[in-house]
Amino acid sequence: MQGTDIQQEAERQITICNSCRYCEGICAVFPALQMQRSFAAGDINYLANLCHNCGACYHDCQFSPPHEFAVNLPKALAEVRNDSYAQYAWPRALAPLFARNGLVISVLTALSVTAFFIGFITLNAPGELFRAHLSPGGFYALMPHNTMAGLFGAVFVFAIFAMAMGLRNFWADANAVNSVASSSPSIWQAIRDAGSLRYLDGGGAGCFNEDDQPRDNRRLYHHLTFYGFALCFAATTVGTIYHYGFGRVAPYPWWDLPAVLGTVGGIALAVGTWGLLVARSKRLPDLVDTRANGMAVAFILMLFLTAVTGLALRVLGGTAAMGVLLALHLGVVFSLFLTMPYGKFLHGLYRFAALCRHAMSRRHGLNPAPAERPVPVAVRSTDG
Ligand code: SF4
Ligand code: SF4
Repeated sequence: MQGTDIQQEAERQITICNSCRYCEGICAVFPALQMQRSFAAGDINYLANLCHNCGACYHDCQFSPPHEFAVNLPKALAEVRNDSYAQYAWPRALAPLFARNGLVISVLTALSVTAFFIGFITLNAPGELFRAHLSPGGFYALMPHNTMAGLFGAVFVFAIFAMAMGLRNFWADANAVNSVASSSPSIWQAIRDAGSLRYLDGGGAGCFNEDDQPRDNRRLYHHLTFYGFALCFAATTVGTIYHYGFGRVAPYPWWDLPAVLGTVGGIALAVGTWGLLVARSKRLPDLVDTRANGMAVAFILMLFLTAVTGLALRVLGGTAAMGVLLALHLGVVFSLFLTMPYGKFLHGLYRFAALCRHAMSRRHGLNPAPAERPVPVAVRSTDG
C-alpha cells in the first residue's frame, strides 16, 4: 500500500486483526475490515473514521503491548483519523497550521473577534456598550442586524463550503478502490447508527476511559453534545425565520420557541462538552493520539464556551453586562465556525460517510472468500 508511515502501521495492525478476528462482534470496524483482502490508503482512512475510539479492542487484545505484535488499534486509527482531517481539508494549506496550533488559534481568534466587536460597538454606538437593552431588537442598538448577519453569513458559508469539499475528498478517496453502490436503505441505516452512537458502547459493556472498567459516560456526553448542538442550531434557524418571515426580532421572551430551544440545547451542550473535556483529561494516553490534543480540545472548548456565553447572555441579557457578553458570544461563535473545517468537527461528517459506506458494503456484499483472507506479516515471520 502506498501511504504514510502512520497508515502503513495501521494496515499492519489491521492485517493481524483480519487473521485473528477475536473482536469481530465489538464494533463496525472489524466486520468492515474483514470485507477486504487488501487496503488502499483511502480504505485505511475509511476504517479510521468508522472507529469511535471506545478502547474495547485494546483491552481485549492478546497481542497488545508488550506483545511483540504491538497491536493497539484505537491509537493507530486515532492517528490515521486525525491525519485524514488535514489530508482532505480545503484549502489544504490551512490544515497543518491548525493541526499544530489548534487550541492557540481558536482562543486567539475568539479573543480577537471579541475585541473587534467591542471596538465596533464603542465606535458605532458610543455609550451603549455598558447599558441594558431590554426592548426587542436591543442587540441591534449595539450592532446593526445587517452587519451581524453579513459577517456571520460569510463565515458560515465559508465553513459549509470548506467542509463540503473535505467530505467530497474523503468520499472519493474512501471509495476509490473498493467502490460501493449507494442506496437509500443504507443511508437510513447509517443515520440510525450515527444518531444512536451505536458503536460507542464497546460491544455493549461501555466505553473504556481512564482504566480497564467500561463505562457509558463518553456515550452520554457525546449524545448531550450532539443533540445540544442540534437544538442550538434549530433555535438559530427558527430565530431567522421569525426575523425574515414575521418581522419578529431578537431577543425573544423565555417561553418563545427560539429561547426554549436555545436554553435546553445550551444546557445540554454545556454539560456534554464539559463531560467530554473531563473524560479526555483522564483518558489513558495509550488510547489517544496525543499529537492532536490541542486540535481536539480546541473544538470541544469552543463548543463549551459557545453554550456558556449563550446561556449567560440569556440570563444577564437585561443588564449592563449585555454588550460585553454579546461581543464575547459572537467572538466564540465566529472562531468556532472558522476552525470547524480543520478540526474535530470533521469526525462527525467523515464518520457518517464511513457509516454510509459500511452500510452499503454490507448491503451489496463485499465479503472475500475465507481462503482469500490475508495472512499477517507478523504471524508469518513468527511461524518461520
Ligand atoms: S485487536 Fe487484537 S484481539 Fe482484537 S482482532 Fe485485533 S489482534 Fe485480535
Ligand atoms: S476502539 Fe472501539 S470502535 Fe475503535 S476499533 Fe476498537 S472496538 Fe472498534
